Amino acid sequence: MEKTLFQKIADKEIPAAMVYEDELCVAFRDVAPAAPVHVLLVPRKPLRDIASATAEDAELLAHLMLKVGDIARDLGLEPGGFRTVMNTGADAGQTVPHLHIHILGGRSMQWPPG
Ligand code: AMP
Repeated sequence: MEKTLFQKIADKEIPAAMVYEDELCVAFRDVAPAAPVHVLLVPRKPLRDIASATAEDAELLAHLMLKVGDIARDLGLEPGGFRTVMNTGADAGQTVPHLHIHILGGRSMQWPPG
């Protein structure tokens, strides 16, 4: 099966500004940032989206959730705060079919989003 864009980034076949990596996931700066800090946290496993995850992925998903706070802290997003977003499917505007968590911060944000 063809690698996703984010698998190619995780495998260093396509360059990206990495901010974190371990055996399960990578985090890199979004190429079109929607906030002063905009990082994508991506599992190495090419799950299409959060709705594709199964019980088999529970440990991986817990790992990602815990990394969100660590990465946000490392990027200086606390105590100000930050937003996490996971787009799933066309209606949400998902453009890369490989599960990823947006971590956005460095400015105040409105809720609800548009
Ligand atoms: P989504 O719309 O939720 O699927 O988010 C995909 C994100 O990937 C967008 O915010 C894009 O700007 C970002 N993106 C696309 N290509 C790259 C790339 N080569 N390096 C870093 N971020 C990228």
